[in-house]
Amino acid sequence: MMSKLIDDYNRVIDYVRISVTDRCNLRCRYCVDGDFPFIPHAEVLTYEEIIRFVRICAAMGVNKVRLTGGEPLTRKGLPYLIRELWAIEGIRDISLTTNAVLLADNIEELKDAGLKRINISLDTLRKDRFEWITCIDAFDRVIDSIKKVSYAGLNPIKINTVIIKGFNDDEILDFVKIARKWDHEIRFIEFMPFGDTSLWKGTDIITSKQIEEVIRREFELVPSLKTNRGPAKVYDIRGGPGRIGFISPVSSHICSECNRIRLTSRGMIRPCLFSDVEYNVKSLFRSGSGDDAIRAFIRDVVKVKPERKLEMGSIRKCQRTLRDIGG
Ligand code: SAM
Repeated sequence: MMSKLIDDYNRVIDYVRISVTDRCNLRCRYCVDGDFPFIPHAEVLTYEEIIRFVRICAAMGVNKVRLTGGEPLTRKGLPYLIRELWAIEGIRDISLTTNAVLLADNIEELKDAGLKRINISLDTLRKDRFEWITCIDAFDRVIDSIKKVSYAGLNPIKINTVIIKGFNDDEILDFVKIARKWDHEIRFIEFMPFGDTSLWKGTDIITSKQIEEVIRREFELVPSLKTNRGPAKVYDIRGGPGRIGFISPVSSHICSECNRIRLTSRGMIRPCLFSDVEYNVKSLFRSGSGDDAIRAFIRDVVKVKPERKLEMGSIRKCQRTLRDIGG
């Protein structure tokens, strides 16, 4: 193997998150504003370009890939992509982040293609509220998918829940109860400064610390041993199975442990989620550059990965949406 991808702060980059499409079948109010323009198909990376990118990265030590979007399951042929990525030497982990609306019908095919782990996004346990937040009546399909993923043996299921003031902060304890009942891991994520919407004001954030305080009034939390390396602080809930986690991208600095870069659906490498500075690798693919040139480009991009994101008070809204970057 060639030398690893290491940035100027000695962080080894072994993980890429890829937005396979900016298209989504939900219209979450905190993510998009009504009718939003899609990126024209021709500007979205092809599967062959994504595969080439991962192959080049894998030769430099990347071993973990997460497919996200937009909604990755709205793009045809996702099992093909997973299968091809698995065939790349060095790739040891491929996971998917999805809203699960289309998951139930695709689970066996995804599993056969080699998918091992799935994160499902779900911001409410109430059917009517789901429709209000997402603008689509699909709550039952999501719950059906969660059950089928569990039956298919793709455990543990991680459920990602963005808690937003006035949206769903009254459901925090309900989510903890469901984590215990279903034996899943529910991860509370802080609301981040992205999106087409005017909603993000900074004041809508409920920090992980505040969420944890609410939970500790009712439940005893014990640091969990059943946890993968990653940004979440995970706890067992005393008296039952299931876990809860906190992901605090806004209120805390996990930057020193950051091991990832992102590839956006339009083919930009984004070294830091919170920085709008992106680097166009698609133009190299499409101008006939060889692997050596692309490899050198990726190394240069990794070198300039910022040491840390901005302080909470100075965070401003990012220009791109999470569906383009890959949430
Ligand atoms: N469609 C897939 C899904 O729903 O999981 C993948 C893409 S979606 C952008 C990924 C995650 O980003 C979802 O859990 C969504 O709730 C989250 N998200 C979107 N906008 C966000 C924001 N401003 N702050 C925090 N999370 C956000």
